[in-house]
Amino acid sequence: MFYFDEIGGKKILKSDLIKKANAFFTTREICICDKGEDKNVETENNKKIIENHIKTRLISPIQTHSANVGTAIKNKFDYPDTDGLILTDKNLAIFLNFADCTPLIFYDEKQNIGAVSHAGWRGTAQKIGVITARKLIDEFGSNPRDICVLIGPAICGNCYEVGIDVYNHFSPSFLPPAPEQTKNIKIDLKEINRKQLTQIGIEKIDICPYCTCCDNEYFYSYRKENGTTLRHSAVLKLK
Ligand SMILES: [Zn+2]
Repeated sequence: MFYFDEIGGKKILKSDLIKKANAFFTTREICICDKGEDKNVETENNKKIIENHIKTRLISPIQTHSANVGTAIKNKFDYPDTDGLILTDKNLAIFLNFADCTPLIFYDEKQNIGAVSHAGWRGTAQKIGVITARKLIDEFGSNPRDICVLIGPAICGNCYEVGIDVYNHFSPSFLPPAPEQTKNIKIDLKEINRKQLTQIGIEKIDICPYCTCCDNEYFYSYRKENGTTLRHSAVLKLK
């Protein structure tokens, strides 16, 4: 179950599915994405608050809506064209940024490894969640039954409307039958990601009830805020 907590008096969102690792989502109160253009948002200060809390420097990749999944490496700070990042080093901490797209945090307590992925419609259509999980399973020895996944705050199935061109990128097994209309088709990216992960044997999944549009007071929405450059983030630091 998801619940709000605080770091330095600023609201963050956590889930009781992952207790041992530091896994959480930032809110508008503690934006750490430095691409934002709002000068009132103290990104650097917020980052310091979180780094002090987790006692680790944060690193993040350059997201491009790809299905590329890399691995965080000590003393490497540059991860171009990367939308999923595996974390195996407990001395590192990672974050990825979101405003409507679906954030996925993975954690395997037994192996003490995890990952964060960015699943917008492009990433979801390319199954970036499955690619990330497969890497944990095939390359790092995770058992799918041990992997916990948090599907974080993202635009909900009522608010997210796409055209037939986007709809057609998805496998029919993940969506209701093709609608007659060619636009304003509602799709639920959180639910599609859940189904994809379930198909490869992941059972421990917690889906965030918050929508970036409906609950815009807590999170950023690219659609509702006319293409805002501000982002909330999914953060992971191993135990
Ligand atoms: Zn909504």
